[in-house]
Amino acid sequence: MTDSAASAGTTGFDQVLAFTVPERNARGRVVRLGPVLDDVIAAHAYPAPIRHLLAEALVLAALLGSLLKDDQGQLTIQAQTQDGVVDLLVCDYRAGELRGYARFDRARLDDLGPNPTLHALFGDGYLAITFDLATAGQRYQGIVPFEGDTLAAACESYFFQSEQIPTLIRVAVRSEPGGCVAGGLLLQHLPEGEEGRERLHVQLDHPEWEHMRIMGGAVSRAELVDPALDLERLLWRLFHEESEVRIAQGARISKGCRCTSEYYRSVLSRFGPDEREEMRNEEGLILVDCAFCSRVFEIDLD
Ligand SMILES: [Zn+2]
Repeated sequence: MTDSAASAGTTGFDQVLAFTVPERNARGRVVRLGPVLDDVIAAHAYPAPIRHLLAEALVLAALLGSLLKDDQGQLTIQAQTQDGVVDLLVCDYRAGELRGYARFDRARLDDLGPNPTLHALFGDGYLAITFDLATAGQRYQGIVPFEGDTLAAACESYFFQSEQIPTLIRVAVRSEPGGCVAGGLLLQHLPEGEEGRERLHVQLDHPEWEHMRIMGGAVSRAELVDPALDLERLLWRLFHEESEVRIAQGARISKGCRCTSEYYRSVLSRFGPDEREEMRNEEGLILVDCAFCSRVFEIDLD
């Protein structure tokens, strides 16, 4: 490993590190979230299993979103089912801003006990992952069923099935009374280079990837959420036998939402007068709900 690890500086919470292992044609992201999780979660009065699930999804959104090269691009993770206890979970990432919410049946959730499995929460659900490249006006979406035990496993199969990129993802969440800490590692093998999207076959047993998968897979849940362990240090532990690992600071992560009265006013102005009239309540106001912020806006169009 070269000196670039040292020059990247220390990493606190709510920061993504990007790294590449050039000799192995591998790239990755590592992230540890703290205060931003509390910011997003504080908007909602969610029970522990839902907070845990949302924290895991937010880590995934940060890992996947930080792969976007387009500064104005957006990554959206949406988990959905017909009649699951959780019927909808949405997280998105844009320019370092994260937000997310879940919709669930509280009574049925209580029946599941403190540590429900992903299958107990979602039943036969699926995960939709969407990359919106604003600048290029392109959109890529892949939909995968929940086959593994975790949202991270479903994201791995998205990359395998939709992008033909061998991918390893590990996520850990530690909830404490004082707040939540979560961390994640994403590792990918791109033997054709970063730009080539045409991959006719995925070689999961490529020796480079086998090696990287074992090295990266050695990361423990405790390491991912240990605030005393810098992310640079974590990468050094995993990959110090490599001749070169390049590390770059990625985006700082914060909570962000686009909900403002001005925004909703402009959206509502696109409806016809009759439709707007129907939306008004007795006081003449239109109530708009931002599910990401659990906040209701009273819009007065006059
Ligand atoms: Zn909002």
